[in-house]
Amino acid sequence: MPELPEVEVVRLFLNSHLIGKTISNLEIISPKSFSGDPKKIINQKIIKTSRIGKQLSLHLANNFILLFHLKMTGQIIYSPPSSRGTPNLREGVSTLGHPTPLHSFSEGWPNKSTRLVFTFSNKSQLFFNDQRKFGWVKLLTPDELFDYQKNLGLDVLSSKFTSKYFYNQIENTSRPIKTVLLDQNKFAGIGNIYANDALFLAKINPSTSSNKINLKKSELLVHFLKKIMMDSIKAGGSTAKDNKYIHPDGSAGTHQFSFQVYQRNNEPCLVCQTPIKRIKIGGRGTFYCPKCQKYNRSVKRDARRTEGLI
Ligand SMILES: [Zn+2]
Repeated sequence: MPELPEVEVVRLFLNSHLIGKTISNLEIISPKSFSGDPKKIINQKIIKTSRIGKQLSLHLANNFILLFHLKMTGQIIYSPPSSRGTPNLREGVSTLGHPTPLHSFSEGWPNKSTRLVFTFSNKSQLFFNDQRKFGWVKLLTPDELFDYQKNLGLDVLSSKFTSKYFYNQIENTSRPIKTVLLDQNKFAGIGNIYANDALFLAKINPSTSSNKINLKKSELLVHFLKKIMMDSIKAGGSTAKDNKYIHPDGSAGTHQFSFQVYQRNNEPCLVCQTPIKRIKIGGRGTFYCPKCQKYNRSVKRDARRTEGLI
């Protein structure tokens, strides 16, 4: 599944290609993939893009919002207009998300995974493809968007996502920190790759009870979460072994070459050479170095008084 950096790479792409364009038509091939009144988007200009966690919004001039969620296999394909004023379905096509088999590039779009086709007044087109149909696009008012996202935690890259916010979210739960990091109601956008690697960099055992992590360790964890997300965006996102994400030009992201522990079970730790272990926490594959991330029962959080929080 695409995580925050991959969705941000998609957002940056749409931001540079769709701002100022007017939607002239929406073809709904799969009704399950779209909710809302499609008439409300016709002749509307896209004025802004935004993102919280893995949810991506295109803001329209009439204040409506198109909210995208790629889920497991969602894919966005952008086709610029050709010089003849028709969609250029064979050349200059950009693809983001779940890989499309190469033969589809020669066949063009729409293909059998295409669920929605947006056409713009300059004849460029945006295809929403989704093999498994878990992804969707919803048309919402600002109030509906607020309501829809009100239970989401702060986005990791938001300036409001501070170590104090983070600490407040983890101090009252004894669930393993690895599980809590994936809780989208606390922190929007942290997925399995970045949870594993940030815990490694902060030298925290993934099974540690969240309420045993002190403010200093929280600061370290927040620092590394933000850093690896930013590094990954710069690297164009991650294309993990499941190959669920590719780039506008069909190539893979490169952040996977910077994985610290994720998908490196039995390979030597990059710091101490100890083989990386793989266990399951909360049903999710969890990777860690048993030496660098020792489980330490005695790590108690300091009293709130000494943390300067009260
Ligand atoms: Zn190690």
